[in-house]
Amino acid sequence: MHDLYDVTIIGGGAAGLYSSFYSGLRGMKTKIIEYQSSLGGKVQLFPEKKIWDIGGQPPITGDAFIKQLIAQALTFNPTVELNTKVVQLEERADGIFDIHTNTGSHYSKTVIFAVGGGIINPQKLSVDGVPKADLKNLHYVVRSFEQFRDQHVVVSGGGNTAIDWANELKGIAKEIHVVYRGEELSAHESQVTFLKDHAHVQLNTTIHRVIANDETRAIEKIVLQNTIDQSETEVAVDHLIVSHGFDMDQSIDFKLSKELGRVNDFYVETTAQTVTAIPGLFAAGDIASYSGKVNLLVGCFQDAVNAVNMAKLHIEPQANKTAMVSSHNERVQKTYAL
Ligand SMILES: Cc1cc2nc3c(=O)[nH]c(=O)nc-3n(C[C@H](O)[C@H](O)[C@H](O)COP(=O)(O)OP(=O)(O)OC[C@H]3O[C@@H](n4cnc5c(N)ncnc54)[C@H](O)[C@@H]3O)c2cc1C
Repeated sequence: MHDLYDVTIIGGGAAGLYSSFYSGLRGMKTKIIEYQSSLGGKVQLFPEKKIWDIGGQPPITGDAFIKQLIAQALTFNPTVELNTKVVQLEERADGIFDIHTNTGSHYSKTVIFAVGGGIINPQKLSVDGVPKADLKNLHYVVRSFEQFRDQHVVVSGGGNTAIDWANELKGIAKEIHVVYRGEELSAHESQVTFLKDHAHVQLNTTIHRVIANDETRAIEKIVLQNTIDQSETEVAVDHLIVSHGFDMDQSIDFKLSKELGRVNDFYVETTAQTVTAIPGLFAAGDIASYSGKVNLLVGCFQDAVNAVNMAKLHIEPQANKTAMVSSHNERVQKTYAL
């Protein structure tokens, strides 16, 4: 007999981790399956960035936040499968889900699909001068700010991630230079206003070529091209940060009784309570799309609570619609010595 779980969470990011905690709180046998070798999801892309917008939580770095989130997620001892990629999700006639991965199969009464944008990889810079092997001062993700101290840093990109990084470098880097192919930066207004105070911004500009030293495996200069008049300028750099978005691998084969509704061919269409077209399958976090969806950490938490409550009701239709408050839970009281 296979080991059957009440709830299996695909994805160990913020939505999956909080679902794990809440599922334990509701007394369900829970498993998390995560492709990466560590939990935390995309917050791991910004370990030193401060997160300011979680209710009641003083500003906290991504790294510290993940540590807290993981500790909370493990409160009720869920099973955690790391380095495991879900490749097929199959709904059986009896309503049980068979979850096939690269390392074996898992069985569950309900599934919380919390895959964020799928398995994400930063889009690589593909211009002359960038060899296949890594260059030591070319960064796609910023894991530590200290390496940029007193350095001349060029950031390529105009979205939230690029501008966030350029802003975090204020007071650390000697010079911050942002280049973006568009006419206007697409990051949040307040971030852009802050940026203009300390960085040199060059719009309608792309990186045309990179000049690297073969021996040191470091970029020495970049050649910028104006997209309007094609003119070129050479700029000496200590570090180049490229933030051109992410490739998202969501190549799961769905063998379900109905099509999963998709928004923009990608996001899973749900109700505000995370219910998908398939009974017993719920979607939480960035992957879920419904009117009023908040694509932030706080949105992940709300989705997680809804998904777990709906999973509980799927398994036990007579169960309470919501959990008791956590301070009444014996395990939580012991863990936090309340
Ligand atoms: C640079 C940046 C800065 C941000 N700053 C803030 C901020 O300041 N405040 C804020 O509230 N939000 C911020 N956000 C948004 C926030 O990080 C996301 O809303 C949140 O992390 C989404 O969590 P998630 O669990 O839905 O998805 P993710 O964190 O993407 O987690 C999904 C997980 O699923 C796994 N997975 C995917 N497919 C499979 C598969 N087939 N098999 C197994 N595992 C799989 C992935 O490996 C990943 O670990 C920021 C985002 C970025 C990119």
